Amino acid sequence: MENKANQFINAADVALKDPDLQKAVAYGTRLGFNKRIAAMYEYGEEHGEALREQAAQIKGRALANLPNLLEEAEKNLLANGFKVLWAKDADEANELILEIAKKHESKLAVKSKSMATEEIGVNENLEAAGIEVLETDLGEFIVQLAEERPSHIVVPIVHKTKESIQKTLEEKTEMPSTENPVEMARFARAYMREKFLQADLGISGGNFVIAETGSIGLVMNEGNGRFVTSLPKVHIALVGIEKIVATLEEYATLTQVLPRSATGQTLTVYTNLINGPKRPHEEDGAEEIYLIFLDNGRSEIYQSNYADSLACIRCGACLNACPVYDVTGGHAYGWVYPGPIGSVITPLLKGLENAKMLPYACSLCGLCKDVCPVDIDLPHFLLDLRKDVVSTQKGNLFWDLGISGWSWVMRHPKLYRFAGKVAARVLSLLPLKKLPAPFNAWTDHHALPAFAEKSFTELWAEHQGEKNG
Ligand code: SF4
Repeated sequence: MENKANQFINAADVALKDPDLQKAVAYGTRLGFNKRIAAMYEYGEEHGEALREQAAQIKGRALANLPNLLEEAEKNLLANGFKVLWAKDADEANELILEIAKKHESKLAVKSKSMATEEIGVNENLEAAGIEVLETDLGEFIVQLAEERPSHIVVPIVHKTKESIQKTLEEKTEMPSTENPVEMARFARAYMREKFLQADLGISGGNFVIAETGSIGLVMNEGNGRFVTSLPKVHIALVGIEKIVATLEEYATLTQVLPRSATGQTLTVYTNLINGPKRPHEEDGAEEIYLIFLDNGRSEIYQSNYADSLACIRCGACLNACPVYDVTGGHAYGWVYPGPIGSVITPLLKGLENAKMLPYACSLCGLCKDVCPVDIDLPHFLLDLRKDVVSTQKGNLFWDLGISGWSWVMRHPKLYRFAGKVAARVLSLLPLKKLPAPFNAWTDHHALPAFAEKSFTELWAEHQGEKNG
């Protein structure tokens, strides 16, 4: 997927003028936000916070021991009959997937929801080679039909209204006209069922890989993932190297915080553990399972000051909590990962110069950290990324002069007070609603506030004077 993260301001501008998007995103994020609170604190705040703390420690330990856990996982996965492959970047991962598809003469691949496959553009790569790919998560299916991109990590169609979903289904399939969401879902289910039976390749991600047992953990609500991973003869799971957890017990804890944070459920409808290909005595399951561990920039993040961002379990809670995402939706972020976590990892994965607007797409309210089930300090990372942007970008003469002038005036209190008075006087005489360029970035979107009659310093002096009689 082409990275357009540096077009954030323009894209956000477009989103702000789209009433359907505003309505749909606000509804979806508020619902997710409130459901998370109810589920996470179901047994009281102390219990919910203890669960978060436990999850944060599990991911922290797993990251600290990542190289060893990856080796342990590989050993146990191989013992379970998985074929384990490693991809250093998107190209290598796509080549491996295509090679496997060709080896098995695949013609139709069914896919379950996976951010890693979005990240490397699996669909485009397979389709270019003449292999049909069908998204089978309902939201992803609609996004695919509409030729759009997911706009949320967990709810890919959060930007769409019921009416626009109906329109897409009616235009792109033979669905009989209906406004009833249940009938729409029923139609999609029947449509996909046929495809599942024809598919010769299943492609999934993996929420977790459990090192101790050599298993893939997958959580989902629609059951499509079970079809994807068990009906076709061949299954490929593409998993980021950071998805490792050490033990089954730790996996059990994470499967409690992930659905609570993502969809406000205590447990997802389907919580799967895949322990290898079909055994001789088993009726279901893929005959061959390839697990591809994807690096694609993660090792570099691991060695940087941003390593803790790899703890992310892709729950989407920070998106639902973010006041910026709430009004811009996900497409404005310009690449696969939107919201606060996207503003951190897109610059890290795609290069700071290719996403330098994103660290500023934040009001620093701190809510993303408060809701994160693994307690990632996203605001801190965003501030650090801003510092990195400033330290790497070329000087801007106008900006540098402005800051130097401001700093000089601030260091001379008398001059500062005098300048404040002059500015207040001048602005009160000029009924300006907007400032002229280049000072207009703020006032293009906000009313220019009137200067107060008295400055804070004057009010403070008066207050102190009254207090002291
Ligand atoms: S950063 Fe935290 S809240 Fe955001 S998606 Fe990742 S785990 Fe969820």
